Amino acid sequence: MKILNYINGELKEPIGNLWMDNYEPATGEIYSQIADSDLCDVELAVAAAENAFENWSNIAAEERAKILLRIADIIDSKLDFLSEAESRDNGKPIKLASVVDIPRASSNFRFFATAAMQFSSDAHITENTAVNYTIRQPIGIVGCISPWNLPLYLFTWKIAPALAAGNCVIAKPSEITPLTAFELSKICIEAGLPAGVLNIVHGNGPRCGAEIVKHPKVKAISFTGSTRAGKEIASVTAPMFKKVSLELGGKNPNIIFADCDFEKMIHTTINSSFSNQGEICLCGSRILIERSIYEKFKTRFVEETSKLKVGDPNEKGVRLGAIVSKVHFEKIMYHINLAKEEGGKILFGGEQVKLEGRCKNGLFIQPTIIEGLKQNCRTNQEEIFGPVVTLQPFDTEEEALQLSNNSDYGLAATIWTENLNRAHRVAAKVQSGIIWINCWLFRDLRTPFGGMKNSGVGREGGNEAMRFFTEPKNVCIKL
Ligand code: NAD
Repeated sequence: MKILNYINGELKEPIGNLWMDNYEPATGEIYSQIADSDLCDVELAVAAAENAFENWSNIAAEERAKILLRIADIIDSKLDFLSEAESRDNGKPIKLASVVDIPRASSNFRFFATAAMQFSSDAHITENTAVNYTIRQPIGIVGCISPWNLPLYLFTWKIAPALAAGNCVIAKPSEITPLTAFELSKICIEAGLPAGVLNIVHGNGPRCGAEIVKHPKVKAISFTGSTRAGKEIASVTAPMFKKVSLELGGKNPNIIFADCDFEKMIHTTINSSFSNQGEICLCGSRILIERSIYEKFKTRFVEETSKLKVGDPNEKGVRLGAIVSKVHFEKIMYHINLAKEEGGKILFGGEQVKLEGRCKNGLFIQPTIIEGLKQNCRTNQEEIFGPVVTLQPFDTEEEALQLSNNSDYGLAATIWTENLNRAHRVAAKVQSGIIWINCWLFRDLRTPFGGMKNSGVGREGGNEAMRFFTEPKNVCIKL
């Protein structure tokens, strides 16, 4: 199978005729070839987007919405097929793809299709002397670059608002998980999206992504990925004065107070630690527990973790599938060894899981729990992005806050307490863009989504995304 670019409404081979191997993480087998695009393909996509912009930006939001809603409907109608594709490409359990990734991709289109019709702008009346109003116009051509962990989910989270706002898009999915983006190309053709409005160019970061980022006609970049790549993108776009939205890494704390609803907390903390093999930017990887329940928590958390089945993503009941790539597998194993060198005690896991049969060459890791490490060690400071969590006790609210905020990252946090005052007080002081109290990953697509510190710049979601993908223009009328 060849994973082709989608440029000017057509599926196209890369101009340079270069290809990369695409692996199935659960089996270790190469099962498709990905277009390894470069500047020539990006130029073609930009030319197509330029041609399409005049028409797409001028049709009524309702007309754009009709097409985006058709895309959402087709995604829904292909739920099983797309879930299988996502699971095969990423290694995640097929069940997870079918209840999270693919439904969320269609709701991204549905949400922003209708959001564009309800989006309004400000008017400022200057007492008896003037009226100012703001026009929000599409920016033009925008770039959307996404990672491998929630492939179609995060790809569409950017593309849908960009298109709804009237922009034309050059999008690049991760070269590690390109399959569902390729399927999306075919869905866009089926839905009648005009040629050139969305162009999907496949390739790696330095050869293809970087060309999108630095192209002078691409006026804004919405990027989700590592803090490392985010820094590179920021340094290229800043002198070009491009608008950027950067959604980057995390090292999220879960703050657990003794007065929490213990059962609810345990159940959710298992999910927030190990869902998608811990490969969700919002997973809590530093679990901070009030000392009076530390031992109780530890015993129960280890017990529940030991029940999680690691295995073939196609198998029913499997909670952790394969690690997405060999490089990432090695990174996680490196960090587990580093944690041991730093004096960490492995309470559970820490080893590769070897499977038989179809998955004998796949890369699987046990869910891993580590204790005994200080906050300032590398294990507690660096993002691992795998099924690995550390436990640390705390004595006071102040100490919990100090541990939480002693990080270069600031993406998400969970707080577990039944004390309403404390919940609000701690939420206000934790340095994270997203706080969940007594829950995790409970999403409302209207809320601002993103991080502070090294976790990024800007916010996605709802009106934040519609504002990002439009250029405000103030018009002043003197009375
Ligand atoms: P990555 O930065 O390696 O790659 C992300 C995307 O950027 C890929 O499409 C890649 O090809 C492209 N890319 C890489 N270098 C580039 C460059 N110089 N210019 C342009 N494009 C470039 O990240 P990854 O390994 O795919 O994803 C994992 C990371 O993403 C983790 O750090 C995770 O925390 C983060 N993430 C963040 C969020 C969030 O919302 N904050 C969500 C998901 C993942």
